[in-house]
Amino acid sequence: MLKVYKSKRDFKKTSEPSGSLRKAKSKQPMFVVQKHQARALHYDFRLEVSGVLKSWAVPKGPSKNSKDKRLAVMTEDHPLEYGKFEGEIPKGEYGAGKVKIWDSGTYENLSKKKDGKDMSMESAIKEGEVEVKLSGKKLKGGYALVRTKFRGEKKNWLLIKMKK
Ligand code: MN
Repeated sequence: MLKVYKSKRDFKKTSEPSGSLRKAKSKQPMFVVQKHQARALHYDFRLEVSGVLKSWAVPKGPSKNSKDKRLAVMTEDHPLEYGKFEGEIPKGEYGAGKVKIWDSGTYENLSKKKDGKDMSMESAIKEGEVEVKLSGKKLKGGYALVRTKFRGEKKNWLLIKMKK
């Protein structure tokens, strides 16, 4: 759903894509990490799921070390076109600051149910236990996104490099 995304932005002022939902399923879904120098620097980690980019803001960015647990705060879905967006969001607008693509590529869903059966990305996100294999230029291999109940907030997840 892009309702929240659209409600936060004035497309007459920002050059970000207004976007639309794409129904067709990609054989090779994409991921992108955008370095976003907003009020506070963070990295937006996005995975293509069901025609949108599911999105998390990662203050410290993804780590290649499996010992690190990086806070990833779930944010609103973004349109797929956002995966190509780079530019400057003007002052006074939501997310004002520079956006640069830090890494991008495709991913494979590795998420499994407790009984070991494959789980769709939609269900994995609902369950709060996502595992993906990234094929990017910088990021390669397994990454887990796990929802925490840290401070009782539902939108807090951890992004962790897996050993596979
Ligand atoms: Mn951002």
